[in-house]
Amino acid sequence: MDCVFCSIAAGDIPSAKVYEDEHVLAFKDINPQAPVHIVFIPKKHVMSSLDDYDYALHADVIARIFAAIASVARDLGLTSGYRIINNCGKDAGQTVRHLHFHLLAGADMGEKLL
Ligand code: AMP
Ligand code: ZN
Repeated sequence: MDCVFCSIAAGDIPSAKVYEDEHVLAFKDINPQAPVHIVFIPKKHVMSSLDDYDYALHADVIARIFAAIASVARDLGLTSGYRIINNCGKDAGQTVRHLHFHLLAGADMGEKLL
């Protein structure tokens, strides 16, 4: 399968790694939209997007990613806040079809979408 995030997880494409455990990898986004912009992925290509989520199969995947996000946010000292974004599908502008969450921080992100 031709998946850029699988290639990053395999080490075939270099990345600026921020966090890694057995299941989750986090690296700096190549096109940062905020002073801190980190992408969190499951190392395995378990879902192309959240649209594939099945609690019976993937109960731990999202939990592990959010635990990693919270841990990184604490380690980076993001005490004034951060935003987590998941783009799911075409209308959300998802460009990489390997489940991932964006962590954005380091600036006042201003007007909210919601
Ligand atoms: P999305 O639009 O939600 O699918 O997000 C995909 C993100 O992956 C974008 O923000 C890209 O800048 C980022 N991205 C694509 N290729 C790489 C790469 N090789 N290293 C780091 N980030 C990447
Ligand atoms: Zn993948």
